[in-house]
Amino acid sequence: MTIVGHDANCALCGAAGTTIELPRRTIARGLDPEDAAFSIIAVLPDLELCDLHAEELGHGEFVLGWCDDEQCRCFGRSGEASGCGTPYKALKH
Ligand SMILES: [Zn+2]
Ligand SMILES: [Zn+2]
Repeated sequence: MTIVGHDANCALCGAAGTTIELPRRTIARGLDPEDAAFSIIAVLPDLELCDLHAEELGHGEFVLGWCDDEQCRCFGRSGEASGCGTPYKALKH
């Protein structure tokens, strides 16, 4: 776990946080609807976590997830319901 920045807000609780190196930075969004030979890869934004949540993630107390619904596109705990009702998908391999 490498801390690469500061002065941001935790993605989970909104407290002051630091930028965390993601386990992976891209997710597959499926095939390009206009050209099935191409798949669409989305690059995830930076993740900020407070000290508590960064430590919990480092200890494996939860798995980082991402909801790729257009309304959400945000980080959360894998398996928990996101704002649109779909559970966050785990970012770990
Ligand atoms: Zn937090
Ligand atoms: Zn969602």
